[in-house]
Amino acid sequence: MSDLIKLLPDHVANQIAAGEVVQRPASVVKELLENAIDAGATHIQLNIVDSGKTLIQVIDNGKGMSMTDARMAFERHATSKISNADDLFRLTTKGFRGEALASVAAVAAVTLKTKGKNDDLGTSIQIEGSKVIQQVPVVTTQGTMISVRNLFFNIPARRKFLKSDQVELRNITDEFHRVALVHPNISFVYSHNKSELFNLPVSNYRQRIVNLMGARINEQLVPVEEETDIVTIKGFIGKPQYARKTKGMQFFFVNNRFIKHSYLNHAVMSAYEGMLKDRTNPSYYLFLTVPMDSVDINIHPTKTEVKFDNEHDLYAIVRASVKHALGQYSIDAIDFNKEQQYEVPYEYAKKIDTSVPRIEVNPDFNPFNDDVTTSKKNTRITDYHKSDNAHWESLYAGLESESTLVDQSKEDGEQQEFFETSTSQKSIFQLQRKYIVSPLSSGLLVIHQHRAHMRILYERLLKEITMQPGVSQQLLFPLRLNIPAVGVQVLEDVKEQLENTGFVFKTLKDNVVELEALPIYIKENQVSDILESVIKGVQLEIPDNGFSQTDHLATMLASSMAIKTGELLNLEQMEQLVDELFACKDSEMTPQQQKVFINLSGDSLNQKFN
Ligand code: ADP
Ligand code: MG
Repeated sequence: MSDLIKLLPDHVANQIAAGEVVQRPASVVKELLENAIDAGATHIQLNIVDSGKTLIQVIDNGKGMSMTDARMAFERHATSKISNADDLFRLTTKGFRGEALASVAAVAAVTLKTKGKNDDLGTSIQIEGSKVIQQVPVVTTQGTMISVRNLFFNIPARRKFLKSDQVELRNITDEFHRVALVHPNISFVYSHNKSELFNLPVSNYRQRIVNLMGARINEQLVPVEEETDIVTIKGFIGKPQYARKTKGMQFFFVNNRFIKHSYLNHAVMSAYEGMLKDRTNPSYYLFLTVPMDSVDINIHPTKTEVKFDNEHDLYAIVRASVKHALGQYSIDAIDFNKEQQYEVPYEYAKKIDTSVPRIEVNPDFNPFNDDVTTSKKNTRITDYHKSDNAHWESLYAGLESESTLVDQSKEDGEQQEFFETSTSQKSIFQLQRKYIVSPLSSGLLVIHQHRAHMRILYERLLKEITMQPGVSQQLLFPLRLNIPAVGVQVLEDVKEQLENTGFVFKTLKDNVVELEALPIYIKENQVSDILESVIKGVQLEIPDNGFSQTDHLATMLASSMAIKTGELLNLEQMEQLVDELFACKDSEMTPQQQKVFINLSGDSLNQKFN
């Protein structure tokens, strides 16, 4: 038979190799930042456009490259960092495989400008999909600027596989954290779409952590220091009372390299034993230095796992030094028992098992429904209570007469007046499809319809999530949504809270979400928008304790579900909105502290006519 085997052309081989090194914009960021550090830069600028999908640019003031090196740098297995296998055991650089630039240039449009210290002229090279388009001498300053445009332009499937802008940007920021944390002696500027996200001056570890994570962090940090023959440990751990449900701020660095190590993580966690609230994770930033030849840096390009020669000893040392630091701190700390100041509205901070006051808003209220007037009586037979089918009616208790509702809800005279006026007089009207205007005996009330509904929903959701599960409406057929796997993971994290509001999930796996039931005030066609906004919100901001996480979720759900500015409301709907608003614990502000209504008093009107 004829010969079948062929050597792959270089650009194809490069593209395949690129698949390993370059998985997403963040992988490019990591490689470029590491190259800048290896080049001895003391200042590094990272510019990102469109979460790296349009541009990833790194500018450094490092040693630069000669004209030949600039060209060589893009060849596969071209590196200045090691020259034989033994060098692998005395790595002082981050890079050593010589694959990164070749891989990046195979799947993007790359421009490199670089100049070495003693060179008069620099070099500019343009490469697209491994093809050199141009190489010319240029006037430039010492150092290297590399711009990576249109990542995966020649692999559409890969480009399509990229996650939402938020997710990709978060991955980039994670990489930036990992690099910046361990190099406080280098100043960094990081911008996204021309706005500066971080501007980090040269500093020490502690200041760098604070500059990256926020000033609040400072008081939470306890220093750790330990020096033994096999390891030197420096860094900080978080005070136990600041531990969070989410796992974000846990960093191990070994010889200036970010690593993941579940065994060492366990060592830290076990040092906290008995000091943490249930299922919370303390933050830590631990910088380990070990002899080069006692650690095996995984040579897989994107893996962060490493292997130590003497793992058991390391475990014991890490555990002991964290324990020691915690002990030291609890002796020193006068405020050890001081409760952390959570922002806890109302009684929701703790679940209250005793009877909940029967002040209920109508859970069936939906201004999108035209049949809102009949909805109180007309409950669907498919409605059921998640935990107890028989008790869904209880949610409707207190709605027979609107006056009972107000009697129980507010003693506050002023608000009572608002309420009475708005329901007893049929003279309220909508202004600009945005405000509800209601005359009072003493003036005029102008209510922001979207914000009012948001407040109402927020309180209801908060109550459902924390104390009293909401009512679900069973779907005839399960509702199936395709959501990127990262998003599904986020939903998985807040599943319990969502289920309390009335969502019933059948599947939450890979990129598939299937729902069997919804909260009764949500329509099927709203679900995907609502879940998307939950995912975005959770990804953007992961609050630092269980309560504010719930609060955050309720706020997000409320804001995406609330009636919008521009919606036309009928009289009935407006009245209901006003009634429910003033049955709220706090009707004046949205959960994000925006004004819900203004009260134009008779006096202030009089003044205007003076
Ligand atoms: P590696 O970092 O594994 O050596 P790369 O493909 O990332 O491989 O880079 C190839 C070579 O290009 C490096 O070994 C280095 O000599 C040179 N290089 C890359 N980036 C820079 C930079 N920012 N400044 C100076 N030289 C660089
Ligand atoms: Mg490199």
